[in-house]
Amino acid sequence: MEGMHVIHFFWKDLSPHLILHPVVADGLSLSHPKPSLIQVHRLSLGEVWNYTVLPGRWCVGRLEEESYLPCPEGRVLKEFHICPRCRASLGKPTLREIFEPEEGCEGEICEKPHVVYLAFYGEKMKVGMTPEERLLKRAVEQGADAVGVLLHLENRREARAEEKRISKELRVPQALPAREILAGMSRGFKREVIEERYRRVLEAVGGEEELTILRGYPLERLSSAPSPWKGKRIHGRVLGAKGRYIIVQMGGPKAINTGKLLGRVLVEGSTKPSLEEF
Ligand SMILES: [Zn+2]
Repeated sequence: MEGMHVIHFFWKDLSPHLILHPVVADGLSLSHPKPSLIQVHRLSLGEVWNYTVLPGRWCVGRLEEESYLPCPEGRVLKEFHICPRCRASLGKPTLREIFEPEEGCEGEICEKPHVVYLAFYGEKMKVGMTPEERLLKRAVEQGADAVGVLLHLENRREARAEEKRISKELRVPQALPAREILAGMSRGFKREVIEERYRRVLEAVGGEEELTILRGYPLERLSSAPSPWKGKRIHGRVLGAKGRYIIVQMGGPKAINTGKLLGRVLVEGSTKPSLEEF
């Protein structure tokens, strides 16, 4: 059955894109046309999705500078969207280097100047850290409504240590539950409220910076907080996107976590694959 393998979701400035790869799914094996051409789909408000999501999850392969390489093993995965072989060949830092950088952290990313920042989702805040050059990109990827630097650090390890310290001492969470982030999408925020919250944390850490308000996400005004999408069918009008979520109108706004869509195959229409196939 012909479908689209979801390879990647990314933001280019404030514009969300999906990278899709045409495939033919036959039970648990995927085949693809040669040469493997990918499609970059720029998401627009109002487009209508009508897809069935196949039950399997397949390794997304590798996106290189100029080309796309499907997973050489055609791996079927459970938890993740990329197999160890494809991840290793990307030369990307390991998850450990990303989240718990240590003294011996050798990835290129570890040596870059970092910032510890405060990000707002509606009026809820969290503390985070990222390479300085990625701050705004990171804020958009996370769908923050505002972001402000707290501290500048020399490398990732120091930034991680400060992030943890600030989180503990000032009781600012390092992550917000999905329901808070989704609630923030319909609730909005008062600028003076988040500026005051930012100023208080900034004073406590002794920094001098400004809060950047991020406006212009492609998202219609929502009548209620989107609820997390689950299931095998996506059928409805796209209301927009913010952070990692694509919002689709399906009897109320539903939030599709793109992280969970990676590696899946979308088949147009209400195809009902027979259970024997899987
Ligand atoms: Zn792979």
